[in-house]
Amino acid sequence: MSWFHVRPVARDVWLVAEPSHVNSWLVAGRDRAVLVDTGLGIVPIRPVVEAVCDLPVDVVNTHAHLDHVGGNAEFSRVAASPFPTSGVAASERASYLRWMREVLDAAAAYRDLDARYFHLLSADSDPRPLPDGVERWVEPGPPSGPVPAPLHDGDTIDLGGRTLTVLHTPGHSPDSLCLLDDRDGVLFAGDTVNTGPIYAQAPECDLPAFAASTARLAALSGDVSLVAMSHFGRGVAEPRYLHDVAVAFDRLVTGDPTVEVRPARDCEGDAVREAVFDQCSVYLPAVP
Ligand SMILES: [Zn+2]
Repeated sequence: MSWFHVRPVARDVWLVAEPSHVNSWLVAGRDRAVLVDTGLGIVPIRPVVEAVCDLPVDVVNTHAHLDHVGGNAEFSRVAASPFPTSGVAASERASYLRWMREVLDAAAAYRDLDARYFHLLSADSDPRPLPDGVERWVEPGPPSGPVPAPLHDGDTIDLGGRTLTVLHTPGHSPDSLCLLDDRDGVLFAGDTVNTGPIYAQAPECDLPAFAASTARLAALSGDVSLVAMSHFGRGVAEPRYLHDVAVAFDRLVTGDPTVEVRPARDCEGDAVREAVFDQCSVYLPAVP
């Protein structure tokens, strides 16, 4: 079984999922294509991309976290926000590998319950066995890929009959960006919008910036047909979801005392607080 699950979700837009871990997105115009993020780098992503698209492919990273840049070295042209971020440490890979094993251990029981009662799992989200040699992934050393060309807010990427506009959306990380497909309204949201817990707990996260960025996306939702996200069981959402996320962040930055907050653990096993809303949740630092 392939490590990846690939399927079209819109006209010339493909989900390239590492199910239950991270989604990369391929978007093609007439002349060229962009791969939005390159995944974990556990298994080469480029052959998977070339199997569905024969155009030249450049990479845009939504941010430099390890699960978004893993396959950068397979490509010759990469672009990203120039704002500094925490980057990729081998120790993070080790803790993420522990998390992947934890997910797989939980999956069998979850599949049984899902098949009987809930019916949410699909090939997009059902975790796949770890590939042989995955331990090598945690060793330091593999090249991180080309130095990214800088992308700034408002820059455009012309794919031929289709333009992607760069939206600098700090909050999850200083370098987070989204891409808006001006032709068909697909918003590639990176980790700024997700349908599981939205990660705002790391030291480099900035809650007021997150609120401003999600408010900006909500204001653009009239131009959005589909939100394409990086994580969790639902990789796409309707534009209305941008409002739900923006309202959640607004309630957090304005100190709404009615927000339910409970203890949780993130994928690195670290204690966090989880603010729970009807349609989403947000991970916050363990200590306010
Ligand atoms: Zn991230």
